[in-house]
Amino acid sequence: MGREHAVPEDHPRVTSLRARERLVDGIAAGMTSQHGLIAHGRGEAFDYLLGEQTIASAADACEAAVATMLLAEHPVFSVNGNVAALVPEAAVSFAETVGATIEVNLFHRSDERIEAIASHLNAHGATEVLGGGAEARIPGLSHDRAVVHEEGIFSSDVVLVPLEDGDRAEALGAMGKTEIVIDLNPLSRSSQVAAIPICDNITRALPRMEAMAGELSVLDDDTLESIVEAFDPAKARADAETTIRTGDLTGVGE
Ligand code: ATP
Ligand code: MG
Repeated sequence: MGREHAVPEDHPRVTSLRARERLVDGIAAGMTSQHGLIAHGRGEAFDYLLGEQTIASAADACEAAVATMLLAEHPVFSVNGNVAALVPEAAVSFAETVGATIEVNLFHRSDERIEAIASHLNAHGATEVLGGGAEARIPGLSHDRAVVHEEGIFSSDVVLVPLEDGDRAEALGAMGKTEIVIDLNPLSRSSQVAAIPICDNITRALPRMEAMAGELSVLDDDTLESIVEAFDPAKARADAETTIRTGDLTGVGE
């Protein structure tokens, strides 16, 4: 891999092109599915309309998400082939700072892809990744996408599920999980069922959450709870939707 040099530094769309390179490399490494490219393209369209920036309400959502993970008994970070290809460094370091278990959780589940993703995360410093050998099932879901680890997502109280399939996000909600979803589309079912919808690109949101985790980890539980209580998920979705629909980017940033 190491093909990032192929994108010229001074190209005006260098950030977006680098993300695409990472996903293409993710496919070559057996981590990312071809469907993942389509999902990313859908995300890019929303990101374009948001001005490729973290809007203020998404920054608030990141903060509430980090506080929720820090307060959780058993937080789990669900990682798929796009997340592993795009932000492996931030994923590993964020999980470690908030004490979250990393579980590889795939829509198009295959042992080879799970193994490729787990090795990639291990190469980026992850000490434990729940990958193959999962035997529990999310109730109400047919197919392999229901398979999860008993000691991971199945028994979690809080689960961070970036770029999640809407159907599975609903089923996890029905299990009583507190869901944190990173999804650029505020209208997606995943965003709609999330206690904390982060309408932002994961390439910006996760490094931001990683930086915040260090700062918030020194706060007491009461302070963290007040951060969570102050967050309004419906407003966060509405802010993102208004920005996308009106195209008015005035004052939406921080
Ligand atoms: P729904 O949730 O509406 O049922 P879905 O989850 O089945 O739909 P997909 O297209 O599979 O639909 O989901 C991919 C989602 O991930 C899209 O909503 C897209 O906006 C989002 N997405 C893709 N790439 C990124 C990214 N880099 N950062 C944040 N969100 C992304
Ligand atoms: Mg979705």
